[in-house]
Amino acid sequence: MSQNDNWLKAAAKCCECGAVYSAWILPDDSVQLIGRKDGCRCGASAFREISSATHDDPSVSETDGA
Ligand SMILES: [Zn+2]
Repeated sequence: MSQNDNWLKAAAKCCECGAVYSAWILPDDSVQLIGRKDGCRCGASAFREISSATHDDPSVSETDGA
C-alpha cells in the first residue's frame, strides 16, 4: 500500500488563477496536487478544495499568510 487511506481525492482550485487540478486532501486539510509537485502553473501554491455543495463565501481570506 503506497497511499494513505485517509487521503481524500478531490478537485482543488488555485486561489490565484482559478485553475482546477486533481488533488489529495490530507487529514490535516492541506491540499496536495496530484502530479504537480511545484504547485499551479501560475506559480501559486495556495489551493482551495472544491466542494460539491454550493457553498460560496465571497469573503475568503482566512489563512492568507499571516
Ligand atoms: Zn494558479
